[in-house]
Amino acid sequence: MSDKTSIVSLICAAGVGSRMKLDRPKQYMKLGADPMLLHTIRAMKDVERLDDIVVVVSPTDPYIDEIADRFPEGVRLLRCGGKERAESVVNGLIAANFPRDAWVLVHDAARPCVRPAEVGKLIDAVLSDETVAGGILAAPVADTIKRVDANRRILETVPRGDLWRAATPQMFRVHELIEALSGNLTGVTDEASAMERLGKSVKIVQGRTTNIKVTEPADAVLASLLLGDTAVVPFRVGQGYDSHRLVEGRPLILGGVHIPFELGLDGHSDADVLLHAITDAVLGAAGLGDIGRHFPPTDMKWKGADSGKLLAEIVRLAREKGWQVVNCDATIITERPKIGPHVPAMEASVAKLLGVDEELVNLKAKTNEKMDAVGRLEGMMAHAVVLMTRVER
Ligand code: MG
Repeated sequence: MSDKTSIVSLICAAGVGSRMKLDRPKQYMKLGADPMLLHTIRAMKDVERLDDIVVVVSPTDPYIDEIADRFPEGVRLLRCGGKERAESVVNGLIAANFPRDAWVLVHDAARPCVRPAEVGKLIDAVLSDETVAGGILAAPVADTIKRVDANRRILETVPRGDLWRAATPQMFRVHELIEALSGNLTGVTDEASAMERLGKSVKIVQGRTTNIKVTEPADAVLASLLLGDTAVVPFRVGQGYDSHRLVEGRPLILGGVHIPFELGLDGHSDADVLLHAITDAVLGAAGLGDIGRHFPPTDMKWKGADSGKLLAEIVRLAREKGWQVVNCDATIITERPKIGPHVPAMEASVAKLLGVDEELVNLKAKTNEKMDAVGRLEGMMAHAVVLMTRVER
C-alpha cells in the first residue's frame, strides 16, 4: 500500500432526525455549548492522517449558516445532500472531487462521541490488510437477541457470537464506494451493505461502545456526558453553615431532637443550628439560594417554627426542581453538652427529613477547644455538605 494514497473523510449531515421531535435536524441540537455537528467535525479533525474533510448538508438546510463559520480550518462544506443517505454520500464524493483511489471514511454526523484513536485503529486495520475492500468500526452485540413474530411473541433466540453492531466511520476506496452506492439500493442501510452486495470483503474493526448514534432524546444526554458537558453531570454538591447563641430558658433542639441541657439556642424559629446548616446545603446543591430567602426572619409566620418542617419543605422544592439528596455529612461545634450519645437519634431524624437511608447521614461533633465564643459556650456552630442527584421529573 502506497503511503501517498490520500485518506479523506465525508461527514454526512443531510438527515432530518424526525425521531427527536425537534424544531431542527438533530445534528444542530446542542450538546453542551455546541451543536452536535461541530463536535463530530472536531472529533474527525483530530484524526491525524486525514488529508481532507467535507461535510455534506442538504441544499435547503437553513441552519448550517449559523455554524459554518465555526468549522475548523480546512473543513469544506458541500450543500449537495439528497433524500437518502446513499444519495448524499454519492453526491458528496463526486462534488468533493476526491482522488479516485483515495480512501474515504464516511462518518455519521449523529456520532459525535467517536474518538480519534478508534478511527486511527480502523485506518491501520484496513491499510494493513490487502485482502479487504474496506472496513468499518463496529461493536460486538452484548444483549441477548430475540427474533419475534408480528405479535411480538418470541420465535427464537438468535446466537449472538458472530453478531456486531455497525457504526461509523466506514472506510472504502472512493471510486468503489461511488460504484457500490450507484446501483440498486434496496436493503442498503450503510456503505458497507452496498459493498457487501457487490461481493466485496469488508473488515470489522472493534470500536468503543461510547461511539453512540444519537437517535433518541436520552442518547443526547449520554452524548453530552461523554463529551464532558458539566451541565449534564447528574450531581450537585451544596455547603451550609449556621450559628446561634446559647441562652437560658430555651430548649436545645439539634437535628430535630430535643437534647436535655441547661441552655438552649436562641432564634426566631426553634433555632436548630444543625438543620439550618443542612437546609442551606440542600438549597446550595439545588441552586435555590439560602434559607433567609425562603423563610425570612422578619416573617412572623416562621416564629418558633419547627426547623424540620422548613427542611422538609426545601427538600420538596429541590425535588420539584429535579434534585434528590444522595447523602449528608455535617459537623456540630460546641463545648457542651456531649453530643455523641444523641448522634444515632439525630441521624435518624435528619435521614427521615432528607428522605434517605440513615446510612447516608453522617453527623460529627467537635468542641472548639475552649477558644472564642463557641469555646466560652456563648453559642454553637454547624457545618454541612449535601450531595444531590438529578431525578426524572
Ligand atoms: Mg439559623
